[in-house]
Amino acid sequence: MHDSSVSVHPSAATNVPHPLGNSKSLVTSVQLTAFDNDPVVKLVNSLLMQAVQLGVSDLHFEPDEQLYRVRFRIDGLLKQMTTLLLSLIAKVSARLKIMAQMDISERRLPQDGRIKLLTADNHTLDYRVSAIPTLFGEKIVLRVIDCADSLVDINELGLEQDQQQIFLQALHQPQGIVLITGPTGSGKTLSLYAGLKLLNTETTNISTVEDPVEINLSGVNQVSINPKIGLSFNTALKSFLRQDPDVIVIGEIRDLETADSAIRAAQTGHLVLSTLHTNSATETLARLHHMGVADFNIATAISLVVAQRLARRLCVHCKKRVDVPSHSLLQMGFLDSDLKQISDCDSTHSAIFEAMGCEHCTDGFDLLPSLNRGDSYS
Ligand SMILES: [Zn+2]
Repeated sequence: MHDSSVSVHPSAATNVPHPLGNSKSLVTSVQLTAFDNDPVVKLVNSLLMQAVQLGVSDLHFEPDEQLYRVRFRIDGLLKQMTTLLLSLIAKVSARLKIMAQMDISERRLPQDGRIKLLTADNHTLDYRVSAIPTLFGEKIVLRVIDCADSLVDINELGLEQDQQQIFLQALHQPQGIVLITGPTGSGKTLSLYAGLKLLNTETTNISTVEDPVEINLSGVNQVSINPKIGLSFNTALKSFLRQDPDVIVIGEIRDLETADSAIRAAQTGHLVLSTLHTNSATETLARLHHMGVADFNIATAISLVVAQRLARRLCVHCKKRVDVPSHSLLQMGFLDSDLKQISDCDSTHSAIFEAMGCEHCTDGFDLLPSLNRGDSYS
């Protein structure tokens, strides 16, 4: 397929493998424009532009026997945006794979890639792309992994006052492990970077190893893992320890080897921040135990476990006030202390707000300024 809209950075012109793997300079950037002669390129570009405008976190291209469905995840929920002709499955897949620098001749095995988009207003968006062969063609999912404004302050995370205090205390310890846990897409990286932003000063050496680096933070040494050439979380971690580190960030603790290295780093005077896919703070300790980490190491090294969830917020422009009987709220499981926080509330009625929907939002819920935002902590 003729591909006129892909522009390659000069550094990508050489074939020398970069030691840091998925470094940004090696990622081809794609200019997003609606003006292209190829109808498939035009179609894909217009879907991507629509996704950018809607603040979509994931784009799903799903071939089925009857239809080729395109769904977007907006504010945590999937929504069908359009269906395409079945005859377009191969062409759209090929286009997305070209953009993601995948092997377009390989249709039988899963592939991973990355797309860097340059929007008309010079805004850059990074997508992690995954292609999987399904019964009726390749299902391709694009996940937004970078937003120019995705770096937020700790006080924008939606933490309660006392939670924020505990988080800050752990971040200011010279050593120990701070673990941020939660499901995929719950904003773990965002919370982690909110912490890093605070620690990122001239006097502190911060190194991160991630899969891949999702948020760029100037002043921090960021490394993307590259399993193809043997650059794992653990190998990077060992090298960091030889580079006079103060703060070490491990994108995710996935195995015992990495967990042990993290603990060793924490016990030798370094602050270690990492994430884990668990559902609660207590489950996290059990997970580490089952991984094979010795209990005395868990007890001495872990200084804080944060378990977080993504919450949708009502749109401030259109939320509508409704009066409901207070006893209904109590029946739903709210506590008396919760009701006391509602400003306009007495023993019989409570004023709450419900979702409406307007031009500023999707179905009455706020388009979160940052896609992976953790708004509530449990
Ligand atoms: Zn609204």
